[in-house]
Amino acid sequence: MSSPILDIQNVTVSFDGFKAINNLNLSLDPGELRVIIGPNGAGKTTFLDVITGKVQPSEGQVLFKGRNLRNTAEHKISRLGIGRKFQTPRVYFNLTPRENLELSYNRSKNLLSTLFQKPSAQDREELMRLLTIIGLAGKANVPASILSHGEKQWLEIGMLVAQSPDLLLVDEPVAGMTDEETERTGQLLISLAETHSIIVIEHDMEFVRQIARQVTVLHQGSVLCEGTMDQVQNDPRVIEVYLGEPQEEPA
Ligand code: ADP
Ligand code: MG
Repeated sequence: MSSPILDIQNVTVSFDGFKAINNLNLSLDPGELRVIIGPNGAGKTTFLDVITGKVQPSEGQVLFKGRNLRNTAEHKISRLGIGRKFQTPRVYFNLTPRENLELSYNRSKNLLSTLFQKPSAQDREELMRLLTIIGLAGKANVPASILSHGEKQWLEIGMLVAQSPDLLLVDEPVAGMTDEETERTGQLLISLAETHSIIVIEHDMEFVRQIARQVTVLHQGSVLCEGTMDQVQNDPRVIEVYLGEPQEEPA
């Protein structure tokens, strides 16, 4: 058995005495694609904040590749290999997708010289491969401002991937996307899961069904239930707090 890439042990996060995360335990294997669902206010975003160092746990610990992240600054955690996709894209709209990705690659190399050198053939190939993975090979040289909402989100995912994180954290990636964009985002995350560990937080249950292997349900800052989509969907506690009436399978 491999040791977990992420191991969250008895973590509590208090905001003025209110426990947004309450004695949470969760472990993620290398290469896992884990989906986290739960009602509004369950603590999903705070859960990501505690992994990235934006908030500190008041109790418990977060281990990443065996290393305790307590009191580690956000930018250091990012450099250790945790990339986070926020809900609003942080893309330079006046640059092209290619240029945006180049910037991310260079930022991750911390070599000043990369700024002054032409990219090598190998760099160009890698960049082209990434553009293809995120579905933007045909729009590599247009201003990012004219991309659709979905395409901007994929570009930002690409910019994260360019920095070679081991663990990708993605908060509600398909909010505001068309059905087709949602479907393609699912395919993108599944293909990235071949080479990364990924945690996805999402509300859109159809999307969750498309990508889910292991699902964790959060409720009031704790893990309510964990399992396959089928197990979770049929768990009476999950139905009560989150899903509502039992779902009929279409005939
Ligand atoms: P979710 O993403 O599952 O909707 P959040 O993690 O955003 O939930 O919030 C969990 C709970 O913690 C909510 O009740 C929210 O109001 C509260 N909360 C989140 N951040 C803060 C904060 N900085 N200060 C006080 N309360 C907060
Ligand atoms: Mg949230």
